[in-house]
Amino acid sequence: MDSPTPVLEGTHDDLLAEIQSHDGERRDIIDPATGEIVGRAPVHSIEDLERAIARATAAQPSWAALGHERRSELLMSAADAIDAEAEALARILSREQGKPLNGPNARFEVGGASGWLRAAAATPLETEVVFDDGQTHAELQYRPIGVVAAIGPWNWPQMITVWQLGPALRMGNTVVVKPSEYTPLSVLALVAVINRVLPEGVVEIVSGGREIGAALSSHPAIGKVMFTGSTATGKAIIRSSADTVKRLTLELGGNDAGIVLPDVDPKAIAEGLFWGAFINTGQTCAALKRLYVHDRVYDAVCEALVEVARAMPMGVGLDEANVLGPLQNRQQFDVVDRLVESAKASGARVLLGGEPDRDQPGHFYPTTLVADIDDANPLVQEEQFGPALPIIRYHDVDEAIALANGVEVGLGASVWATDRDEARRVAGRIEAGTVWINSHGTIHPMVPFGGAKQSGYGLEFGVEGLKALGVPQVING
Ligand code: NAD
Repeated sequence: MDSPTPVLEGTHDDLLAEIQSHDGERRDIIDPATGEIVGRAPVHSIEDLERAIARATAAQPSWAALGHERRSELLMSAADAIDAEAEALARILSREQGKPLNGPNARFEVGGASGWLRAAAATPLETEVVFDDGQTHAELQYRPIGVVAAIGPWNWPQMITVWQLGPALRMGNTVVVKPSEYTPLSVLALVAVINRVLPEGVVEIVSGGREIGAALSSHPAIGKVMFTGSTATGKAIIRSSADTVKRLTLELGGNDAGIVLPDVDPKAIAEGLFWGAFINTGQTCAALKRLYVHDRVYDAVCEALVEVARAMPMGVGLDEANVLGPLQNRQQFDVVDRLVESAKASGARVLLGGEPDRDQPGHFYPTTLVADIDDANPLVQEEQFGPALPIIRYHDVDEAIALANGVEVGLGASVWATDRDEARRVAGRIEAGTVWINSHGTIHPMVPFGGAKQSGYGLEFGVEGLKALGVPQVING
């Protein structure tokens, strides 16, 4: 393990100290790998929330008046500020969320945060002439909404915050951020860094629990809620936003299926399958959560997956060798534990893992692969959101598609095949917002991303993502 340099450690501590300065109530934040205290997050009150919304409301007209070009310049500078503090941000994230520094984890997430912010700043959005017959001339443009609420989860806290606030700011809105109560320090640190560059009041942050989220998402001064989290909370936000007819983008839970067709080379796809399922130790909305494999290649795919999975080190995030970490919190550990136990009780075959240490101070659940499992088992039907993948055998592709479509959510899915045309035909029949071919969960700041069915509505990223943060206005004449 490389030992961290004193300079980096100093920066990390300085940034942690900066975000913990708060006169009111504070709460211990526990390292999910060790049980140690990472820091103490402010617990903001409803009065704090009111003041934050008032500041964001006051700042919005002058932020909008700066225009696209100036706002883009400032957002580019904010991305530079994130890059300058990248290592400190990654260390705070690793300690609080649990994800390792290396692999597609903490350093990768901070890189994604600045990358997505740059993309939101740089994407052109032109006024469109939607109709012109010589008599009628109609143009479509987008005005700012006002103050936007950004409410996020604990799995990718920094990157998802940027997904929400980048396009909102670019479009001339100001933002009130409400991070998850499990990972407030990561987001407080990110916002502190961004706010070294942006004018006062443009990004406000309120750290608190569900009641702060509920008050924010029902507040009359909020024009739009950008929400990423569970389907249950998404439904609560739909209800609480109704009285003031707020705009919503809802990125909710998923239970993504992967379908492996019989013509694959199992060894060639094993690593892609592994990271599709186990990125961020399975705590990813669009991770592969149910794997349907054709009988002809079933045993070979299982064997190849076990080989890859066995070689991936899991442990404390700050150890440079690890690429898998703990579950972020005990509740999530208990969900994974319950679901794997239900699979075991049904007679399913555990190929790897499945025997957690329940008395450890951290929340490590071993990398687990479960074969010969019935599709009706809870490990298949519920979102496990952790490092346990059920592998279901199928015999014909229509059956696999029906099973893939047999849940109420539809965020992502994937088809794995050598024949890409056949993979595309199968992909078109799956009810999901994105279907990947020979990969799973790969995202790009210019490619729209959003859910089908109860995985939510609205698109993020690219031009579509910018439009979602504006009020469409037709100029006719
Ligand atoms: P959660 O719904 O429990 O919490 C998310 C946020 O909502 C937190 O900040 C929480 O404080 C807040 N909140 C809780 N109750 C609220 C209310 N009534 N009104 C307003 N805000 C409220 O979700 P979580 O457990 O943090 O995240 C895990 C879930 O998020 C998983 O289901 C995962 O699939 C989903 N997720 C989806 C995406 C996506 O892009 N679709 C991305 C990441 C995570």
